[in-house]
Formats: sequence, structure tokens, C-alpha cells
Amino acid sequence: MTDITLKIREIATRLLQSDQVDVFVGWEKGPQEYQTRPFFVRRVEDVEKLVFNEYSIHNLTNYLLKYRDSTDRVGLVVKGCDSRGIVRLLQDNQFKRNRLYIVGVCCPGIKDPLKIAKNQSGLACPPNNEEIADKCTRCLVPNPIIYDELLGESQEPHNSGERFSEIKTIENMDPNQRYQFFEDTLTQCIRCYACRQVCVACNCRTCIFDEMKPQWVGRENSTTDNMMYHLVKAMHMAGRCIECGECERVCPVNIPLMLINSKLVKDMDHFFGSYEAGMEYVEGQKPPLSVYNPDDPDDFI
Ligand code: SF4
Ligand code: SF4
Ligand code: SF4
Repeated sequence: MTDITLKIREIATRLLQSDQVDVFVGWEKGPQEYQTRPFFVRRVEDVEKLVFNEYSIHNLTNYLLKYRDSTDRVGLVVKGCDSRGIVRLLQDNQFKRNRLYIVGVCCPGIKDPLKIAKNQSGLACPPNNEEIADKCTRCLVPNPIIYDELLGESQEPHNSGERFSEIKTIENMDPNQRYQFFEDTLTQCIRCYACRQVCVACNCRTCIFDEMKPQWVGRENSTTDNMMYHLVKAMHMAGRCIECGECERVCPVNIPLMLINSKLVKDMDHFFGSYEAGMEYVEGQKPPLSVYNPDDPDDFI
């Protein structure tokens, strides 16, 4: 990983010195040795702070939304899962390809700083020896889909076990049991919206949940409003979720959000397949729910 860090610094220096980008987005070391945090470099003298290591967990593509209304040209480091987010932003016309310089890193898997913090603090009882991030245990795309420069050795997908097995278990529940499962699960949500803030597919300028006039969804932390939040967010993610797992990772109360997202991925592929968001970039090509076709399936309506 040291090699990759050095190469990222070289590239960032070159891009800033040659005025190819205005800002370069990567990671810097965090306060603990097992932490990193997003880092935004505008001056060559700050390039030395950039790192890529086993804790570079954040999907940085979400930060492109902060630059979408500017004219800044952005250099950005992406892992495989993150790169699918860039494809989605390009397909949604949220960013122009010619304002981007993408440094792709073939990703060997990333450790979850939260698991390590819990282990070290004694809060994990028993300690969780599996420090790899949950999202990396089901990774399908460790190698970036889209890039200008590619670093690291190509990796095999890290997913183990049958894909969608958990979803099939929930599908096999009877409707009352399934409703109870989701009611029990989503009641615990504290509506902090961290899952929305971190999501690269959540790119509306004004979110329905922030609107006050009219107020579409109550702000109360009640089961009904929580269910409404998750239902609406899920529908907005259909055909757009790139399975980066960031929402589930940042949830402070461990809501298993990937259960909902994976069900959407599975159904999109089934009804509109074969399709998975962000898996390839073809200029001008739109995802299924962004176009209308009179033959679109509607049996489920
Ligand atoms: S999901 Fe895949 S690409 Fe993303 S951080 Fe984990 S191993 Fe890397
Ligand atoms: S991050 Fe978790 S607690 Fe916060 S709104 Fe999302 S699901 Fe609810
Ligand atoms: S819903 Fe979650 S997994 Fe899907 S793109 Fe957003 S943050 Fe990533």
C-alpha cells in the first residue's frame, strides 16, 4: 500500500503542477493509526499528507456533489465500489467527465475502523477478530470500472457465499412476519440521516425529508415516519444504488440497510435485467428507471 500512496502523491503533484485539476481528493491519516479521513488538496505542498492504506474506507465520490455547481476540475481516488458511484453521477448528469481525473486503485479489501475501535476499547464482547469491513466481504467489483490511471494489481471479487441468500430468507417469510421484521428493525432508526448524507446515489438538491412547506414526512422519530423515510429512500435508490455499503457502515444503530438495497438490486435485475447500477459507463446511456418504455413490466403495481 506504501507504493500506492507514493504513486497517488506523484499523480496529485503532477496534476496540480500542470494545472490539470483545481483540487485533488484522497485520504489523509486520522487521529488513530486505524483511521483515515477524506482530504482535499489544492496546494502541492499538502500532497505529502495523502495516504492510501487498509483503512481508506470512505467512498469519496459523494464529495463530487460538493463541486457539481462549481467549475473546479477534480482529481479523485476511487476503489472498485466507489468507481460505480462515478458512473452513476455521470449518467445522472451530475458531473461532466471532462472535469474529472480518476485515479483507480484495485482494492484488496479494507478494514473497518469502527470494528477496530470497538475491539481496542473493550466494547466488542467478545472481540471481533474479523476486521475486514462487512461491505468488503460481499464485494463484487474490487477493480475500478472507470479511471484515467490505474494503480495496484488486479483483484478477484471478495464475495463469499451465495449472493442474495439473506434476501431469499426474508422473501420466504409470510407477509405478516416480514412486516414485523421491518417494523422491528426500522423502529430503531434515530433518523440521523447519516445514511442519506453518505450516499452517492442520493443527489437531489433539495431532499423531500428536508422540505418544510409542504412537510411530506413527519420529523418525529416514530415507527410510521421511520418506515416512510426508509420506503421513500428505498424507492429513490431503485436502479441507482451501487452497493458501496456506505449507508450501512455509517449507521450509528446498525440498521441492516443493505438488506433493503440488495432486494432492490435483485428486483431491478429481475424486472429490468440484466442490469446493475454503475457497472459500465457508456456515454449517453441511461439506467432503466430514467427512461420510459411502453413495455416496461407493471405486473407488480
Ligand atoms: S467493497 Fe470492494 S472495492 Fe469497495 S472497499 Fe471493499 S473490497 Fe474495496
Ligand atoms: S444512518 Fe441509521 S439511524 Fe441514521 S437515518 Fe439512516 S438508518 Fe436511521
Ligand atoms: S444506498 Fe447505500 S449502498 Fe447504495 S449507493 Fe447509497 S450508500 Fe451506497
